[in-house]
Amino acid sequence: MNERDRLAAIHARIAAAARIAGREPSAVELVAVSKTRAADEIAPLIAAGQRVFGENRVQEAQGKWPGLRDEHPGLSLHLVGQLQSNKAADAVALFDAIHAVDRSSLVAALARAMDAADRRPSCFVQVNIGDEAQKGGCAVTDLPALLAEARAADLPVAGLMAVPPAGVEAAPYHALLAKLARDHGLAGLSIGMSDDLETAVTLGATHVRIGTALFGARA
Ligand SMILES: *Cc1c(COP(=O)(O)O)cnc(C)c1O
Repeated sequence: MNERDRLAAIHARIAAAARIAGREPSAVELVAVSKTRAADEIAPLIAAGQRVFGENRVQEAQGKWPGLRDEHPGLSLHLVGQLQSNKAADAVALFDAIHAVDRSSLVAALARAMDAADRRPSCFVQVNIGDEAQKGGCAVTDLPALLAEARAADLPVAGLMAVPPAGVEAAPYHALLAKLARDHGLAGLSIGMSDDLETAVTLGATHVRIGTALFGARA
């Protein structure tokens, strides 16, 4: 399959799942996760119509995206990985959305960077939904306080993000994150990767982050 076919296949999967849930396929934003992919692997997806991309490292994104963006105006870039506070200013300058806001110190660093740059990328608060030691995200019990801090600091909080535990059914975790988002009046739900896309869309995903199913397996 070429990039155009892969993209069409993902859109078909999103549309089929949305139909089952009585949702509009257009309510689900496809974020093409291009981490580790070179600009010449990304360009064919842009040519096929994809406009929203995700990266997990600030430095890697700084190397690839300014050039691609100059060539293709109208692209939107999302940071989907962990962010160190000392890279907050770089992230605010480069990204249109930040999906891994998960601690007080980062909220403070992003608030300072946004004020200084007068630019406010939308933010997703990441929740460690499976309570896993090795995963990023705030604990479920810490979410109310972190959200209050983010709102008080004027971060444009769009919703919640999570990566469910690997190797087990994702639905209970997605459903819990969806409930937390509802409880806190948040419309955005960044869930769903290559393997759990349908489950995520039926449970309310507004942003799915797809890498492997679009680009093939990572090295
Ligand atoms: C890599 C990555 C993805 C994409 O995962 P695939 O399984 O390749 O679709 C999504 N979200 C985050 C946070 C990632 O780091």
